[in-house]
Parts: sequence; structure tokens; C-alpha cells
Amino acid sequence: MMKENLLHSLTALFPRGYIFTDSASLISYEVDAGLDHGRPDGVAFPRTAGDVARLVRWAGEHGVPLIARGAGTGLSGGAVADRGGIIVEFSRMNAVLDIDVYGRSAVVEPGLINLRLDEQVKALGLYFPPDPASQRSSTIGGNVAENSGGPHCFKYGVTTNYIMGMDVVLADGRAVRIGGRALDYPTYDLCGLITGSEGMFAIMTAIFARLVRNPPAIKTMLVVFDSVEQAGVAVSAVIAAGLVPATMEMMDQKIINIVEPFAHANMPLDAGAALIVEVDGYPASLDAQIAEITRIMEAHGGREIRIARDEEERAAIWLARKSAAGAVSRLTPAYYTVDITVPRSYLSQMLGEVNDICDRHGLRVGYMFHAGDGNLHPLILIPDPENPELMQRVHQAGLEIVIACIQKSGSLSGEHGIGIEKRQYMSLMHSASELAAMQDIKQVFDPGNILNPGKVFPVPEAGEATPAQNANGAAGASQAAVDTALVVSENNIFTPDSAAQAARGLAAHSAIGKRVAIRATTSGAASSGSADVICSAAEMRSITTYAPDDLYITVGAGTPLAEIQAFLSKQGKWLPLASPWPDTTIGGLISTNLNAPLRMRYGAIRDLVLCATAALADGRVIRTGRPVVKNVAGYDLTKAFIGARGTLGLLADVTLKIAAPPRARRTLLVPVDDQRRGLLWARSVLPIALVASAIVLSSNANFANGLDSPFVLAYSAEGLPEDVQAELEEVRGALREAGAPAPSEAESPSGTDLWAALLGDASKTLKSRIGVPAKDAAAYVNDQVALLHDSTFLVDMAAGHIFATTAPSDASAAREWIEQLRRPALALEGYAVVIEMPAAWEGAIDRWGYTSSTFDLMHSLKARWDPQKILNVGEFIM
Ligand SMILES: Cc1cc2nc3c(=O)[nH]c(=O)nc-3n(C[C@H](O)[C@H](O)[C@H](O)COP(=O)(O)OP(=O)(O)OC[C@H]3O[C@@H](n4cnc5c(N)ncnc54)[C@H](O)[C@@H]3O)c2cc1C
Repeated sequence: MMKENLLHSLTALFPRGYIFTDSASLISYEVDAGLDHGRPDGVAFPRTAGDVARLVRWAGEHGVPLIARGAGTGLSGGAVADRGGIIVEFSRMNAVLDIDVYGRSAVVEPGLINLRLDEQVKALGLYFPPDPASQRSSTIGGNVAENSGGPHCFKYGVTTNYIMGMDVVLADGRAVRIGGRALDYPTYDLCGLITGSEGMFAIMTAIFARLVRNPPAIKTMLVVFDSVEQAGVAVSAVIAAGLVPATMEMMDQKIINIVEPFAHANMPLDAGAALIVEVDGYPASLDAQIAEITRIMEAHGGREIRIARDEEERAAIWLARKSAAGAVSRLTPAYYTVDITVPRSYLSQMLGEVNDICDRHGLRVGYMFHAGDGNLHPLILIPDPENPELMQRVHQAGLEIVIACIQKSGSLSGEHGIGIEKRQYMSLMHSASELAAMQDIKQVFDPGNILNPGKVFPVPEAGEATPAQNANGAAGASQAAVDTALVVSENNIFTPDSAAQAARGLAAHSAIGKRVAIRATTSGAASSGSADVICSAAEMRSITTYAPDDLYITVGAGTPLAEIQAFLSKQGKWLPLASPWPDTTIGGLISTNLNAPLRMRYGAIRDLVLCATAALADGRVIRTGRPVVKNVAGYDLTKAFIGARGTLGLLADVTLKIAAPPRARRTLLVPVDDQRRGLLWARSVLPIALVASAIVLSSNANFANGLDSPFVLAYSAEGLPEDVQAELEEVRGALREAGAPAPSEAESPSGTDLWAALLGDASKTLKSRIGVPAKDAAAYVNDQVALLHDSTFLVDMAAGHIFATTAPSDASAAREWIEQLRRPALALEGYAVVIEMPAAWEGAIDRWGYTSSTFDLMHSLKARWDPQKILNVGEFIM
């Protein structure tokens, strides 16, 4: 219980109506939608980021916990004040601050309800895909803090894939911007780390979200099966055929029997399982998609296939799925929603085990699951929540389910988070090193432990070390085991063949302060720069696991991308990544975070890496993530390594999302005489992009099938042939209207091919990437045209990236060129970085030219994982 005078000092900081401490208010904030309880000492209703900063400074001064809260629909106790403190309630910060139609992004306050955002952007032809079933009430702030998923994640991904930046108040009261309107800032991916951190790193006051085009048409079908196993096989067959439905949601017989009398969706009560499949795209492709899926369903025992004829029928089908929670509430005063993810091929086995567990404990259970991504929600009915013996059985069953899931390489939380509910289970999934690595990041952001303390990490038993002590002790413990045999002599090369050996070797070099250059290979260009030793991933060159049913591949970090693509191509799969250089390794690509234009269709590198194993300089090996798309079991450590340029550790292996290659790939090529008009035309087709895989304007037109115009506008589309054709037809129409010449159509070169040719041109000695907000890219290029005129350049319109290459006479001309490009980019909240230049110019040219208000956080993270500062010294912005 907080002292009266302390509370008084808080209320004195704000006008009336901002802080409530009366017991009626406090009682309503004791719970979220899960089973945990805790009474706060006060509830604050900030209206501005300034209010939040004041609250945080006050809390830091007095050591009071602050628990940010959206709508309180969380199911794991994330917004519950089980240690007292002040709830920071965001219902008065719920505005849409900006919607950028061309740049396809929105800036919103955290208290905005998810559905309100989606409704507003839909009116503009756009779509915010993350759609938790709670979207009518949950907030964007809560969604980001939990990295929420939803029924449409199979096709569209989870919340983190749509967050570009955020304004936050840090634990020391500073208000800073992390990420922002441009993509791929040259910093650690702190935005990716904060997403899913359950309000424990910072308090968000504004969120920059990415949007996509609202698909022009949707069709929904309901299919009945005799068993869940049968339905599961049908789902796998759809995926194996290379189709990507927007959603594949399954309900088992038990839940059908609970839901049907409530929702009246005409599901037969004797059905073993019901599957909702939704496809979206251009109207022309839907019938073909539905026909193909129907054939697959029938071939695998699907029956009573019902295709919604109109919005009313579609709504009835969805009502059944989305009202499961309500329907269960009619039967029982409480229920426990378990949330786990397993690689999809384990779904039916997992289901059998959950049934056995619940039978053994005498519990009634029904299932809903996001079948496409292996995310399973057993709903355990609780007829008497006051019965401690029953509650004990419920919790025991929950624990056994988690253990069974972890044994299948699953995640103990797919989308609901850890919070209080699962904190004691974290060490079942994560090693001590991994937990310590997570705790390191917590310490970096919130050393005083005031932001949502006590969540995520197991609460130590009496006499056990606290998680923070474990984090602080990790480095020392590993240094005690230094293996001096692994120290290599001056300018020598260390080529570990495993993460464990790499970690021991790095710790040995760390102990004697030898600087290590992390390199992908040992060949030609692998210079050590100013380092004493090269540590190369060259021996980690293998395909470790290929899991076609679960759509992932695990490879050694030293494996060339081309080798992975060649392997996958033989299997009828691919990895939607590209590099301009033939010998690029996957570890190198992830560390440099160089994204090709095709990211607009398939996501960026950060969206495709599911998990990784990394060796840290202090001797720890950490496995980040699991081979599943939905995984919110603790912090998203994988993001720390994306674009970190080897400064935080050596990636040993990585697991990536794979896909069936698109059935059609076509590009429209428009000759362009004047870049200004080309940019206008490009802008006019931007809003059309639904299956576009690149919209670029490039000055290497001669590469585009011998066009002799100074520029070429390339619009590539990939996917189902009907979608591709329909989109290119729309694009042709828009170009005609804008007065552009008739385009030629070809399978190649695509926009990504043009990009690769531009950056792969060895005659250009200086190559740079400029990132600006997508809406400003055209204006930036027009303003800099005199400078760009002597270079070759390509504008990735959707990403707001400009890639420019040149061959300056010397380092001073090179410096002048990059500085001139940089200044206006920085003025637009962007950046300009050097991708490649001769080694001799190192030191004469600032490759990064970027400063960030979060440098201190980056330094502090680096200091925790590389305490002697030996890794890739001087090779990143800090
Ligand atoms: C019926 C039902 C269905 C659901 N379906 C889904 C589903 O399909 N998918 C899914 O992923 N989840 C689902 N959930 C869980 C829940 O809705 C999500 O976790 C949601 O994102 C929580 O949002 P909220 O606004 O209610 O956040 P809260 O519950 O209030 O808070 C959740 C977390 O966010 C933090 N937080 C909130 N605002 C901020 C901020 N401004 N800054 C920093 N941290 C902040 C809190 O501290 C807390 O840790 C469901 C819940 C219910 C009750």
C-alpha cells in the first residue's frame, strides 16, 4: 500500500481528473481478461506524451511501478498491477494523428482501438492487417506491446511486421523517437525489441504503423470434416499447393457444440471439425482460388462446403468463430484460454496430447486454432473458479500442455504474451543464457525496474538469484571458462564450426582484449580492417533443417544465399530475399539488412527471420525465437541481430520463412525521358499495388531489355496469374491516364533485377542507400537531381529508398558527394549511408553520418553482450 503523502505528491502534479485513487476506480483495474489479480495504488489518465514523461520521472524518483494499460483485454496479466503501483491508462490518447496514403502508413496514439484504425484506413482503400479477435476493444498500444496476432496472420504476419517506429517515454523520463517514417534506419532494431516487450522497456505515446492496400475482394468458405486430423491434412495440402489463403481457422467438435446454439452458423453438431478459409485478392482470382481449394478439401474428406454468397453470410461464419469466447461464457462462469504454438505439422499430435491431459485432469476443453500457423487455443471450462482444487487442476493441465508444446519446438505463447500467467514457465523454454540475455535488455532500458516490473521473468524462489543478478553474473561466469587454445595469432583467421566453439573463441579473445572482425567468409575481400583477428562463419555452411510442411529452413549463417535458393528451387520452394552479390551469405545479408525492392510483396529481412543461434563475445550462446511465426514467449531477441553488422555477436545459424515461388511473375517496363515525369507516373500507380513486388524508377534503363531512354519505370507483380494480370491491367490504365508511353511486358528483368544490376556494377566504387519517408522519395530525387545526374540511381518508391552509385575521382570527391546527398535526407528524418567503398577510404569518409537519441541504449546493449568492445570495432554507427 502506497503512502498517502506519496500519492499526494503525484496528484499534485496533475490537474483534477488525471489521477484516481479511490477504491471504486482501483477495483475496476484489478484484472485484465486473464486470471491474475492485483490492486494498483492509483490510475493515471495522461493526455499527452508530456504527461507520460512527468509520470515516469515521478515514478523513477520514488521507485514506484508504472503499468501501461490499453483496454485490459490481455490474457496473461500484462496490465495487472500485482506489485501495486500506478496504472497508466491510455483511453484519452486515442487519436489518429496522421494517415499517409502514398507512403501507406499511419501515426496513431496508443489508446486507439484496433478496429477504429482499420475502419478509418479502409475508407481510404488501405488495410491494417493485424486483427486480434479482440480488435473491437483492444488498443494498438496493447497490440504492439503484446505483438498480437490474429486470424489473418498466416498471410499477413503479426503486429511487429507492421510497426515502423514509435514515440516513447524511456524509463529516465526522456521522450524519444525510435525508428520513424523511413525504413531500415542504421541503428539496432530497438523498435523490433520494444514490440512484444509487454510494456517493460518504454511507454509508447505514438505508433507508426505500416498499411497495405485493402484487397478488392474476399471470399469465405466453411468446410466440415469428420476429424481435426483430416482437416489438418487438408490445411497442409492447401499450403503445399502454393496457395496462401488470408486465413485458415479451425474449430473442433467440442467448440462447435458450444458455439452453434449461440451463433446459428449452420455447423452440423456431429462434425469433427470445421474450417473457415478466406481468400482475398482481385475478383478475377477468387473463383479460381476457391475452386482449387474446394478440390483439395474434397480430396481430403471436406464436406458440406459452404461459400458465403454475400457479406451477411460471411458475417455469420465469422460470428461463429469470433463468438466462441462469448458462447463459452454462457456455459461456465470462467474459462482458461491456453495459447501455444507448434510447428504446424505437430498440430494434430499436439491436440491429441491436450485431450489426454485434460481427460486425465477431468477438465472439459474445446479448441479454436489458427491452423495456418500452428497457433492453438484450448479453452478449458472452469465451472467454479472459487474451487481451489479445480483451479489447481486447471493450472496443472496448463503446465503440462506447455511442456508438451515445448517438446515439439513450439512456443509457450503464440500471441497472448507471458505476463504473470506464464512467467514461471519461461525457463522451460529458455536457457539461463537466453533469460539472462533478455534481462540484459531490460536492464538497458529500465535499470531501475519501474516499467511493469515482475512480468515475463520467473519470480525467484527464496534464496535464488534475481533475473537481474543472473544477467549481471552471466558475463563473469563465462569468462571464467576462457579457452586459450582458441586464441589465434595476429591477423589470423578463426573459423569456428559451431556456435559453442565460436562463443568460447570470442570469450578467449575478449579476455585478452583482441579485436575481432566478424566476417561471413575467409575469401578475397575479407579484410580484418583494424581488427587483430578475423572470425569467419565460413565453416557454418550447411542446410541443417528443411521443413516444407512448416515452411521453414534452418541454415548455417555462412551459407551463400544462392546455395539456399538453389536447394529450395529443387524442392519447389524459395526464400523471398535477394542480393546483388553472388557470394552473399545469409548471415551477412541479415547483419547488413540490405533489403531489395521485393520486400514490398514478401516483407523485409526482419520479417523473414524466425529464429537464430548467436555466439556472444562474453562466451554465451543464445537461441533467439523458435521456428514458428507466432511466438511471443519473452522478448524478440532475434531483432537485435538484424542490421547490427556483427557488433553484437556472431550469427551461427538462422531459421527463415520459406514459400512456394509465385506462379506468375510479370513486369511492366515504361521508358522514361524525364525523371520528374517518371516519378509522377510511379506515384500514380503506387495506390494500386496489391501483388506488386517492386515499383522502381531507375537510371540503368539500358539493363531493361535494351531500352535506350535515360530512365525506366518498372512495375513488377507476382502471385496467382489472375491477380497479376488484373493488377497489371489496372496499372496500364493508370499509366495511360497519366500520359505515360505504353509499357512493354516481360517476365524479367523485374524491379529487383534492376536493383541487383545497379548495386552489383563493379565499375562504381561508391554505393549508397538513402532512406526517406516513402511519400517524400519523389521530391527528394527531384531536388537532388543535379547531383544524382552523374550517378546511376534507383528509387524504390514503396520503401522510400534511393540507391545511388558513382565512381568519384578520390576520397574527397566521394565525401562531398555523400555529404550533399545526406543533408537533405536528414532534414526529412531520413539518412544516407555508404553501402560500399574502397577500403582505402575508410577513415576519410563517414559511412553512416547518422546520430540517434538512442545511442546510449545501443552502447549500453553492446556493453552487455560485448563488454570488452572487441567485435567489429568502428564498423557501425557507434
Ligand atoms: C476475447 C478475446 C480475444 C482475444 N483474441 C486475441 C487474438 O486473436 N490475438 C491476440 O494476439 N490476442 C488476443 N487477445 C488478447 C488481447 O486482446 C491482446 O493481447 C491485446 O493486444 C491487448 O490489448 P489491450 O489494449 O487490451 O492491452 P492491455 O491488456 O491493456 O495491455 C497489454 C500489455 O500492453 C502493455 N501496454 C499497453 N499500452 C501500452 C503503452 N502505451 N506502452 C507500453 N505498453 C503498453 C501493457 O502494459 C500490457 O503489458 C484476446 C483477448 C480476448 C479477451
